[in-house]
Amino acid sequence: MSTPDRPASAVTNAFSIDVEDWFQVSDFEDQVRPEDWDGHESRVVASTRRLLRLLAEFRVKATFFVLTWNAERHPSLVEEIAADGHEVATHGHAHRLVYELGPDGFRRDLDRSISILERITGSPPAGYRAPSFSVTSRSMWALPAMLDAGLEYDSSVFPVQDALYGVPGARRFPFVIHEDHGRRLVEFPMTTARVAGRNLPLGGGAYLRVLPYPYMRWGMRQVNRGGEPAVVYLHPWEVDPGHPKIRSRGKRGFSTHYLNLDAMEGKLRRLLSDFHFAPVREVLAERGFLPRPAEAA
Ligand SMILES: [Zn+2]
Repeated sequence: MSTPDRPASAVTNAFSIDVEDWFQVSDFEDQVRPEDWDGHESRVVASTRRLLRLLAEFRVKATFFVLTWNAERHPSLVEEIAADGHEVATHGHAHRLVYELGPDGFRRDLDRSISILERITGSPPAGYRAPSFSVTSRSMWALPAMLDAGLEYDSSVFPVQDALYGVPGARRFPFVIHEDHGRRLVEFPMTTARVAGRNLPLGGGAYLRVLPYPYMRWGMRQVNRGGEPAVVYLHPWEVDPGHPKIRSRGKRGFSTHYLNLDAMEGKLRRLLSDFHFAPVREVLAERGFLPRPAEAA
């Protein structure tokens, strides 16, 4: 495809986990209302610990975007994540899509999630990942709201066209997405590969779980050869093949939720062996988009 101008291995990529339970996904929204979440078997602690063990084995630090409905019920899990040296960031509070919440609802959900994490970890999160990448052309008002809430970066824009998400023309690599009075909000877009002038989704989740691993490896190498970092994302329930079954047609008329769950851990092991990873904030600092922790103090 493109001429390699630096070894892929020289680039540090971001590794991220959206800490939500198996029944909190957008695909099940019609069957499982948030009011009923407490009635479902919670498996988020065990499956997140499984990922913590895997990351420790490979000595990789990651960013955990925590859905704070879970943080309120399992504060010790958030403490464990932080104690292991990972970055704690926010996935919002109630997993509502940003463009459905509207500006006021979004601000309330975000503020609530930030204060819950600050109470548990002692410091406010720097980053946000929207449920189902729902920062789109319909919800760009969320960017100034994030800056007002004290966030430094967002990682929610997917430069593809999907039924639920996507900003097709968006830039593919980290950039300053919003500026106000000298304050900057940095965007780390979800990773895409480039084929015949089109962006193909790569980032992780179902794309990693369902498609053959060599596709992911090829795409990440393409990105790294261009000197750019990729961001990988996944969910704890994707390494928990035994979680309960719900019949759902999802929000797109089909659901990938239960496909290939058995294969996910093996794919992650290959990914963690083949590439270098760090938390999102660290990758953005390494590239000069954010102050390094010592400078920030
Ligand atoms: Zn989510």
